[in-house]
Amino acid sequence: MTYDDNNIFAKILRGEIPCDKVYEDDHVLAFRDIQPQTKVHVLVIPKGAYVSFADFSAQASEAEITGFFRAAGKIAKDLGIEGDGYRVLANTGVHGHQEVPHFHLHLFGGQPLGRMIKPPQG
Ligand code: 5GP
Repeated sequence: MTYDDNNIFAKILRGEIPCDKVYEDDHVLAFRDIQPQTKVHVLVIPKGAYVSFADFSAQASEAEITGFFRAAGKIAKDLGIEGDGYRVLANTGVHGHQEVPHFHLHLFGGQPLGRMIKPPQG
């Protein structure tokens, strides 16, 4: 899948639309989800043009991967959700219900989150 420069996170990275930023460094931007699903709901994205977790994990440099995951852990800590725990999620592709085609982690926290997903029905 080729990267779409017009996806909403690409526009946020270019500063064309605003975001509620919580962290930024050379490789990473993190901002609050516009439709939070939990009391704390932050999106962590690489600045590089990667469509999905699959794309990022296969194509990103070691510096990008290391910087990204170290930043994600630090962001969760700085958000104050590390003590009680939180959830990290990367929706990927059609079955993963990924809506924005720029790789991102969701950080969910600030409340009990329940079980991860529902088992298959029937
Ligand atoms: P996905 O389903 O791709 O894993 O999640 C995309 C997330 O991006 C959704 O939780 C959605 O609410 C969030 N989102 C979509 N558009 C915007 C936006 O313009 N700004 C922010 N901050 N979040 C957005």
